[in-house]
Amino acid sequence: MKVGIFGASGRVGQLLIEDMRDCEDLELSVVHVRSKQNMAVGKGVCVTNDVKIFVDESDIIIDFSLPEAAQELFEELLLNPKPVVSGTTGLSLHQINLLKELSNKSAVLYATNMSLGVALLNRLVASASAALDGFDIEIVEQHHRYKKDAPSGTALTLATSAATARGLDIDSVRVSGRDGNIGERSSDEIAVMALRGGDIVGRHTVGFYNDGEFIELNHTATSRNTFSKGAIRAALWLSSQPNGLYGIADTLGLD
Ligand code: NAD
Repeated sequence: MKVGIFGASGRVGQLLIEDMRDCEDLELSVVHVRSKQNMAVGKGVCVTNDVKIFVDESDIIIDFSLPEAAQELFEELLLNPKPVVSGTTGLSLHQINLLKELSNKSAVLYATNMSLGVALLNRLVASASAALDGFDIEIVEQHHRYKKDAPSGTALTLATSAATARGLDIDSVRVSGRDGNIGERSSDEIAVMALRGGDIVGRHTVGFYNDGEFIELNHTATSRNTFSKGAIRAALWLSSQPNGLYGIADTLGLD
């Protein structure tokens, strides 16, 4: 199967190109870059800044770009449907809806984190949230200084799992900052705080705090290859799936 990488000149995109060299079952055929540039992508691989050509040249697409760019890709895919694995975070509701619409026409996998560890963390958080009723939940995420969206897509996914497990709507209970004389913490609120600095690949801590005890579940990504390798594994899995919208947990049989 011919793979197209969208966002190819980015941090994850460049690792995807490298890691594709070790993948025997998929072949890199085309990369999309924002402006045409000389990229070392290997013999026979097409480099384009034209989304239509990019989609035409791909049997399956891996997208790690930015929301505005991903929207352009999704709109093209609605005209020419192909399976897509997207890891782009910070998507708007409209952009998520485009992916949902696309999933009626092709297989779509969207995951704010492609790592096995975070997929499991998500399950652990849901279990802990339900079991530890009455414990206050707080989430802290840390990323490198270049990350543009905050809080991270992963932190929002974890927060949603924690809230849903208690029958709460995350949009009604999420707190994104505390400053000044704001009063006491309410019982249902879930703070999701973002720290930025250095070269941190990604660190997420979900804490459950009670009087007399607390438990913290933490995941730390030490290499960005975790995401690129996870996305390639997800693309291999998706290539044999029927149309529909999938998450990373589906590929791991965690349900
Ligand atoms: P990056 O900024 O290094 O790369 C972004 C890429 O998108 C670049 O190649 C850039 O040229 C391209 N791009 C930006 N605007 C464009 C436009 N208008 N048209 C065409 N191309 C455009 O970012 P990154 O660190 O590689 O991360 C990419 C995305 O993946 C981000 O949303 C990030 O949060 C997300 N991410 C997801 C996971 C995951 O596991 N799901 C892991 C890490 C990062």
